[in-house]
Amino acid sequence: MSTTITASQEQAVIERVPKGLFIGGEWRDATGGGTLAVEDPSTTATLTEIADGTPDDALAALTAAHEAQASWAKHPPRERGEILRRAFELIAARTDELALLMTLEMGKPISEAKGEIAYANEFFRWFSEEAVRIEGRYATAPNGVGRMLTMKQPVGPCLFITPWNFPLAMGTRKIGPAIAAGCTMVVKPAQQTPLSMLALAQILEEAGLPKGVLNVITSSRSGSLMAPLISDPRARKLSFTGSTAVGQKLMEQASEQLLRISMELGGNAPFLVFDDADVDAAVEGALLAKMRNMGEACTAANRFHVSARVADEFTTKLAERIGALKVGRGTEEGVQVGPLVDGKQRDTVRGLVDDALSKGATAVVGGMDADGEGYFFKPTVLADVSEDAELLREEIFGPVAPVISFDDEQAAVAAANRTQYGLVAYVFTQDVRRALRVVEGLETGMVGLNQGIVSNAAAPFGGVKHSGFGREGGREGIEEYLDTKYVAINLD
Ligand code: NAP
Repeated sequence: MSTTITASQEQAVIERVPKGLFIGGEWRDATGGGTLAVEDPSTTATLTEIADGTPDDALAALTAAHEAQASWAKHPPRERGEILRRAFELIAARTDELALLMTLEMGKPISEAKGEIAYANEFFRWFSEEAVRIEGRYATAPNGVGRMLTMKQPVGPCLFITPWNFPLAMGTRKIGPAIAAGCTMVVKPAQQTPLSMLALAQILEEAGLPKGVLNVITSSRSGSLMAPLISDPRARKLSFTGSTAVGQKLMEQASEQLLRISMELGGNAPFLVFDDADVDAAVEGALLAKMRNMGEACTAANRFHVSARVADEFTTKLAERIGALKVGRGTEEGVQVGPLVDGKQRDTVRGLVDDALSKGATAVVGGMDADGEGYFFKPTVLADVSEDAELLREEIFGPVAPVISFDDEQAAVAAANRTQYGLVAYVFTQDVRRALRVVEGLETGMVGLNQGIVSNAAAPFGGVKHSGFGREGGREGIEEYLDTKYVAINLD
């Protein structure tokens, strides 16, 4: 695709996406014909209308998943893997149009959308390889007489709820292992960004996924749509990526049927820079950890804890880099920071910045809305942030970097852990012993050591504390979709 994207190219990618619900291998309208508008956050204009699914539609989707489950579980693992592999090839071939679609509905710059597509697609490649490596065990019982057989079987029909910030990757992290393991599924993407998921369903259909294995329902009523599915005994697993508050509500609902649960929830990542760090490398890492996706990432660095000895240097250099970033519509050439996803998100970010400023913080750069019709906020670096500023406790989800200094290692680790969240932390130091001490002391599921990005399909992604539980990616990823059955064998 050329670097200048025309309005007719935009129109063409929107037109190619199916707008219906994908149930039992058919694309259909919502019961009653209701539709839901999808907005371009960089202009606030409506991009298109899609089906606004009802609770009856959602139940039809679960019925389709349930009916397909038994035969899908028996499908040869090699074929399950090859369907994923074919989808991987199709996604790779269509990266440009998928990236444009994602930028239009979500706002991220086109280069970042391409990065997400490559990352999302790695889950299909990884799990296409894992499908044929589902193994059990056979052992002699301790008494020497019996034998113990342990086998793995698919969990059964799954319910997936995904957020808007990574419209494709948050789906493939669940869909990939579920397909590999032999599970069927109902997917509900976020209402702000459903188009990427609809395009993905179309690709999986083309890759030969049997009818009913994947069902996608889009809706403006996520609560009333999903609650009956979660309490339906035909569903066996719920995997949710989104906010901690919604995750807690869903866990309560899932307790009724004792569903297997995976929860990928909010974060409040500390970014620690010690005085022995390579400050320039830390600034590079900070740019990635903070500015990727306009800061709208669960892994986004939320607080920069910097040794008092290098805090001024770090803050100045970070502000120079962040202040120079080009803000604009994600489709425009050279844009590095797009709009926030909607007005509510921008209000939240503005509110957190205003609160910090009112409590004594200084905006070294930014600190306010940026120009433009859409939901733009200026990339911001805040210094002298006081301990009681809300943004040290709340997930910012925007392009705002608060810097606070620390005096010693113990204080740094204590400050890093002073949060209910525990998804990821970043540590910059060149001292190996310190690195290991700090990494072991951090209460998080992941750590970026001298690097500002941890996401990798080959690694187990996930959190502890209020950031949830369960792992996506790596060898652990497929285990979330497998039950263990033990057979006690009498050889007496
Ligand atoms: P959200 O408000 O929790 O929404 C996430 C998903 O849940 C959306 O599809 C939403 O649908 C749906 N939902 C909302 N209320 C629901 C209910 N009562 N019942 C069933 N579904 C419901 O979160 P968000 O604002 O979209 O996403 C941002 C959050 O996701 C942040 O906290 C971020 O940290 C977290 N996140 C975590 C990870 C991770 O891997 N740990 C990754 C990415 C994002 P509608 O929007 O259509 O209502």
